[in-house]
Amino acid sequence: MAGLFFRSDTAIALLHVPFMPRPAPSPLPRIRVLATGGTIAGAQTGGARGYKAAAFSVEALIAAVPQLSELARLDVEQVAAIGSQDMDEATWRKLAARATAAFADPDIAGVVITHGTDTMEETAFFLNLVVRSEKPVVLVGAMRPATAISADGPMNLFNAVAVAAHAEAHGRGVLVVANDEIHFAREVAKTNTTQVGTFRATARGLAGLVNAGRIHFYSAPVRKHTAQSEFTLEGVTALPRVEIVYAYAGAGRELIDAAVKAGARGLVIAGVGDGNLGATALAAASEAAQAGVAVVRSSRTGGGVVERNIEIDDDQHGFIVADELNPPKARVLLMLGLTRSRDARVLQELFFSY
Ligand code: GLU
Repeated sequence: MAGLFFRSDTAIALLHVPFMPRPAPSPLPRIRVLATGGTIAGAQTGGARGYKAAAFSVEALIAAVPQLSELARLDVEQVAAIGSQDMDEATWRKLAARATAAFADPDIAGVVITHGTDTMEETAFFLNLVVRSEKPVVLVGAMRPATAISADGPMNLFNAVAVAAHAEAHGRGVLVVANDEIHFAREVAKTNTTQVGTFRATARGLAGLVNAGRIHFYSAPVRKHTAQSEFTLEGVTALPRVEIVYAYAGAGRELIDAAVKAGARGLVIAGVGDGNLGATALAAASEAAQAGVAVVRSSRTGGGVVERNIEIDDDQHGFIVADELNPPKARVLLMLGLTRSRDARVLQELFFSY
């Protein structure tokens, strides 16, 4: 009898449980993929050595990684189909506009940009300064073409979408994902011509790791970016011309003079050591600065801080130091900085802030 009572009590209790509908599974985040070409979309030509960048469409890249459908709902746009050595201001502006437009849609959680690795750090830093959103922008590339033995693109793309779809990616600025690593746009640089581990951030380290879509974020970015940035492209029809001049033993003044004559409003010196340049080139750079050209001393070493007034009297010459930015990133910041001011002191503050 006890068993019978038990069963009937249970039945009654079940009858009185209010109907609790299961919550519908929340939809996967929506990610927009903006494609520009690069080796990630490259096809080998003539055996295992040669290849042509930007041979495959973004749809083909995504079709090669069906597991992406477990991470996100993707929509795609082919913005360009180039090797990133052909990246230019017009395409940067298009990417900034397309990312900004994507983020105006509240349903879009993040943007992934497929890109060649040669100039990825420049595009990433440019977007880090002009896309005013907390939502993630993740650049991804590959060192081996899509048809190569052990192509690195498919896993890099999978990891990039995983990062862009991750809630903790918000507010970290523009990121670069490759070789299971997550990098900050400001810190990352391509350091090797061919190896898959080419991206390094020697000074301040990684933003995190991503192992087959499993994400481990480390530190937060140290400088202002994206949503806190003061830069805007609105009303700017063309960015001021900024040239990079490389320093070396025995360098003369001809290249600096030529850049000024060609109309450069800014010059970045890829200086030796702590942004140094020999006496002849120094005289030309000083004359350029006195004539109103913004002169930024960066370093060709690939690491470290360029300090003010060590061997070169920056105060006297009217120079700006690049702080930690390598020459191509210093150029990006100077181009944007010159849209706000030509005053060397104001520009110097920008190099200490971004
Ligand atoms: N030059 C090519 C590019 O930057 C090759 C480098 C790469 O994508 O890995 O698009």
